Amino acid sequence: VSPESMAEPVHYFDLAYSEAFAEIFKIESCLKGALARDEFYLLYQPIFSLSTGQMTGVEALLRWRCSELGQVSPEQFIPLAEQSGLILPIGRWVREEVCRQLQTWYSAPGWDITVAVNVSPAELVQPTFSEELLSRLAFAQVPEKLLRIEITEHSLVQDNEAVEHNLARLRAHNIEINIDDFGTGYSSLSYLRRVPVSSLKIDRSFIDGLPTSEDGATITRTIIEMAKALGLEQVAEGIEKSEQLTFLHGHHCAYGQGFLLSRPLPPEQIPALRAQEGFNWYRIRDQR
Ligand code: C2E
Ligand code: MG
Ligand code: MG
Ligand code: MG
Repeated sequence: VSPESMAEPVHYFDLAYSEAFAEIFKIESCLKGALARDEFYLLYQPIFSLSTGQMTGVEALLRWRCSELGQVSPEQFIPLAEQSGLILPIGRWVREEVCRQLQTWYSAPGWDITVAVNVSPAELVQPTFSEELLSRLAFAQVPEKLLRIEITEHSLVQDNEAVEHNLARLRAHNIEINIDDFGTGYSSLSYLRRVPVSSLKIDRSFIDGLPTSEDGATITRTIIEMAKALGLEQVAEGIEKSEQLTFLHGHHCAYGQGFLLSRPLPPEQIPALRAQEGFNWYRIRDQR
């Protein structure tokens, strides 16, 4: 029997497909041993108040330097970790590391910078998620309000009891909840009434075309206004150009994050940046 006469999958099994598949398979098999080989580390991207220019928080971003494949981006490995369940031990490692880092930073007097951690839907449905996080924070002896979590709309589409329990429990302990990539998930906003959300992070895809893209501008303005009307903070993600910053500042968006303001940085560089007066608004504006 020649391969062609077999079933249709052969038809799709072209070279590009098989190479892509082999690549994914390779990444996945490396990912399995990555924790044991200590190949993960975190970078922290500063978040600034757009009114004062002051750094007010950071977002912890996971990095993987694979001994075989080199640097692999989270956009590649996070979805694989989510599918395979490896996100559970990896996520625990992230939060342990963040708590350790917070403990170090907090030992300096007057530390008030918050750290936001990304949490996948598969983690948030674990009934023990909030307990584990709270006991980790207690162990590190840092104020609970210094930690925030970032979840996407995907975590909130179906009302899941465990998700709502975890979020309510965290919120009761002053851990604030950011909705990440806001506007790219599902269009139902009813969860905003159900879930104790503190802040909306406007997805980078809307910021991207500012100020020339009319749609981007309208959507951004609308999200800022809606967030304010609901008493939520607004954070613009992915600010790369001074025109974008000018637009956001002009529309009174409270906070911003993006390569223009700061790249994700190793933790050692954060305290010095915090000690500065903030990003130099005028320098950025005049650099056009
Ligand atoms: P996210 O949570 O929306 O994080 C923001 C992403 O935008 C980061 O990508 C950051 O490096 C990137 N970014 C920030 N400013 C700019 C900019 O001005 N321009 C552009 N083009 N990009 C910018 P990164 O670090 O590659 O992470 C990608 C995604 O992977 C994250 O998106 C998040 O969904 C996920 N992720 C990262 N770390 C973790 C983690 O510890 N746990 C989980 N579950 N997911 C994570
Ligand atoms: Mg995030
Ligand atoms: Mg985001
Ligand atoms: Mg994202």
